[in-house]
Amino acid sequence: MSEDSTTLILGVDLGGTKILTAVTDSQGRMLSRDHSVTPARKGHEAVVQSILESTHRALGQANAAVSALTVVGIGAPGLIDPERGIVLASPHLPGWRNVRLRDMVEETLGKKTFLINDANAAALGELYFGAARGVRNFIYITLSTGIGGGIVIDGKIYSGAIGAAGEVGHMTIDDKGPLCNCGNRGCWETLASGTALAREARQRIEEGIRTSILQHAEGDVAKVTAQAVHSAATQGDSLARELIAQTGYYVGVGLANLINIFNPELIVIGGGLSNIGDILLKPAFKVAEERAYKEAFRAVRFASAGLGRDSGVLGAAAFALCEIRKLSCE
Ligand SMILES: [Zn+2]
Repeated sequence: MSEDSTTLILGVDLGGTKILTAVTDSQGRMLSRDHSVTPARKGHEAVVQSILESTHRALGQANAAVSALTVVGIGAPGLIDPERGIVLASPHLPGWRNVRLRDMVEETLGKKTFLINDANAAALGELYFGAARGVRNFIYITLSTGIGGGIVIDGKIYSGAIGAAGEVGHMTIDDKGPLCNCGNRGCWETLASGTALAREARQRIEEGIRTSILQHAEGDVAKVTAQAVHSAATQGDSLARELIAQTGYYVGVGLANLINIFNPELIVIGGGLSNIGDILLKPAFKVAEERAYKEAFRAVRFASAGLGRDSGVLGAAAFALCEIRKLSCE
């Protein structure tokens, strides 16, 4: 993107548990940032109010007024219709159906606003400013409480018929597997996400297997998280390492599908679960190599998300700037 010192963009990364708001320039430099909690269960009006409060704090830190903003970009989880600016449905935002999020923010701030799926935003963040700069064909995946994805083909997000493409976390891996938030069974994210890892750990603990995982969860099986399993694994707990390797196996099964379908140059892997590193990803890459076409596997590189947790907010901001300028931003 071309440099322009007068451009100020507000990026918002709306998640099921937290909101990250940032004021950025046209080069993806963050001038300020604000974190807050998503009041997801209080409904969409409370969430919009929290976005606005966070916006004013971020603007204050950047010594900027709302009037100085060029445009606003919001990344939100779930099925998004970017054309109409609507959250169609979102497992992470209970009760949200056909919410006019773009217009609600635009009407209150009086600034042109654009809405995009959060994982697609993160893919754009990585494309413009992160690990995928200069790459024409890649897939971004985020391994987190769920699994999100963004598919970039020929330098553009592939959004599908209604903007719902890239929901890689809901490809079926095991048709009789665990029930998913989406209503299906055995989706990738029911087997290869942080939620899946924690669920498997709780089950094995309840079966009576000896493990130090509980010590990382205040001794309460209900408090076992992926983080607790990771902590136990770093101290050598054999069950924790086995469960992470099993999660990595399923990560690899999904990667093999993506490699065979898209033949990407690059797969960028982000999300909190990916911070576990080698004990998760080595088994994943091994399984992907075993299951994908050899030629396609040899052509793909894997990279960690270069922007970490900021890829979504920077991508949402960049998306908005590209849209308002009618640029391809390539
Ligand atoms: Zn699903």
